[in-house]
Amino acid sequence: MGYAFCVMDVYSAAKRSEVMSRVRSKDTGPELLVRRTAHALGFRYVLHSKKLPGHPDLVFPSRRKVIFVHGCFWHQHQGCPHAAPPRSRQEYWLPKLQANRERDSNNLVRLKDLGWKVLLLWECELRDSKALKRRLNSFLKSGSKS
Ligand SMILES: [Zn+2]
Repeated sequence: MGYAFCVMDVYSAAKRSEVMSRVRSKDTGPELLVRRTAHALGFRYVLHSKKLPGHPDLVFPSRRKVIFVHGCFWHQHQGCPHAAPPRSRQEYWLPKLQANRERDSNNLVRLKDLGWKVLLLWECELRDSKALKRRLNSFLKSGSKS
């Protein structure tokens, strides 16, 4: 990811510990929620496959499907209030966020070229647990015989 490193010199010392704790909690936040939900629905996955473009958060090898759980800010969720760039240092943030978006869309194209189906989940969409279950079920079951 590399985000932790570029963030560090931007934030004040006070803000730094907060950012650090968010970085550390990577595996206890939204991704864990999606993993737990998928698991509870009976789907088995592998984690962060390093071989695949963009290192998807959940990989379902036998179904040839992957799921990304995207933070609205870093991955620039279109039209989402959580995606607004900071007002200060825009000359720093705007190109960086734009580069993130381009990297994401390149990864999606590469995954599709390799025959993978991709579901993008945005952090802000995860609060509705029923909707999340519905989306996981319909994405993971589509095209399978069982
Ligand atoms: Zn969002």
